[in-house]
Amino acid sequence: LDDAFERVEVCGGNIVCALMNIDGFSRVNDQLGHGGADRLLALLGRRLRTIVPEARIARLDGDEFGLVLWAAGGDRLDPRAIGETLLAAVRADAIIDNRLWRLDGRIGLVTAPSVASSAAELHSFADAAVLAAKKGLAGAIVVFDDSLRMAIDSRRRREVDMREALGADAFEPWLQPIVDVRGERIHSLEVLARWRVGDEILTPGAFLPLAEELGLMRELDRQIMTRAFAATRDWLASGVIGSLSINVSPRDLDDADVVADLLVTLARSGLPPSRLVIELTETALFEDFDRARELLETLSKSGSRVALDDFGTGYSNLRALARLPIDYIKIDRSLVSEIETDPRVLALCAASIALARALDMGVVAEGVETPTQAHLLRALGCQRMQGYLFSPALSAEALGRKLHAYGASSELAPRARSA
Ligand code: C2E
Ligand code: CA
Ligand code: CA
Repeated sequence: LDDAFERVEVCGGNIVCALMNIDGFSRVNDQLGHGGADRLLALLGRRLRTIVPEARIARLDGDEFGLVLWAAGGDRLDPRAIGETLLAAVRADAIIDNRLWRLDGRIGLVTAPSVASSAAELHSFADAAVLAAKKGLAGAIVVFDDSLRMAIDSRRRREVDMREALGADAFEPWLQPIVDVRGERIHSLEVLARWRVGDEILTPGAFLPLAEELGLMRELDRQIMTRAFAATRDWLASGVIGSLSINVSPRDLDDADVVADLLVTLARSGLPPSRLVIELTETALFEDFDRARELLETLSKSGSRVALDDFGTGYSNLRALARLPIDYIKIDRSLVSEIETDPRVLALCAASIALARALDMGVVAEGVETPTQAHLLRALGCQRMQGYLFSPALSAEALGRKLHAYGASSELAPRARSA
């Protein structure tokens, strides 16, 4: 790259840098063995040298090639055309050990000096372009341009914003009541994270994926948890609310300290562990069953409770369900939303409620929006519900005002009575 930049300085012209990644190369390794896979890479290298003899070519990593092309004077290299030539070379048949192989690849390209102004920039833009190609949103060939630059800049800005927000307490625990429809009382509150950006309130869909990607989930969860305990301590202590439900991300489960943190936060808040419910999704549980079981057992021994979130959307392992210390299942909103219209979904909800009861677990129905849904669920024996019919998630202040308005009974759901 340095050479190419020197030449451009002296003689003008332009440079194209390409990074190319082979799809699914580990499968090739598995099937051909390392010797065969090496022969396939060597064949590909020779092929690239033949079709673009003017390029400098390097194998940068296991299945990654880099190419630099330079054209003098008035010649303009067309990065997309180069990308297409390279891709055709990767996709062409290859015979290794008497077997026909068809590979596929992803290519990121950058032009200099019009787009990248230094070798370092060229390299980092090419990286960004091949990453975008791997994500597959814009096809197998991605040429770095202003829109990609803007996407990267805005992601970087959001990263800075997110770190700042964590420092500035801009993430807030909002609270959604889980009501007990028998007594029409609040059974507990589920903590749902919100990000206040100016006048806007962002919901988790807009920031959790980024927090995961940046490895900030744990920090975020810890902050939300601490603030949620602080905001609800009085209600919990006076019995207005039975418990607080906290979502723990699957990623947190990889980290045994998370549970310890939770218990420390809880102890600091001065509340008994039985007031804490940890919500975990099925997928989180069954990804690493042994570890999940260990953590659940620690929680359960400490006196806290566990709810299985989004029940009915994963691949419920019933045998595992019976062996884990789970206190509640939460029937997913997608099931509840079809309970009125689809008799088979109604049957599934009935079976889930019966299953929970047989295993001595509680049931909460999520996303209850209509009186008919509430009525059907109640008829099936589900007494705890959560959803817009009763209340959306509210800031602690707003919920406080609402609780005050309804008085000490903490009755939240006048509309539910019609159900
Ligand atoms: P979830 O745990 O399944 O939470 C329920 C989601 O459904 C919430 O969305 C809630 O606002 C929404 N909801 C509740 N009732 C209704 C209803 O009647 N109708 C409809 N359409 N929606 C309803 P939200 O707040 O956007 O949260 C999305 C997900 O983000 C949550 O799903 C949870 O998995 C995750 N999450 C939220 N806060 C946190 C957090 O502090 N930490 C972690 N790790 N995850 C969180
Ligand atoms: Ca939840
Ligand atoms: Ca859920």
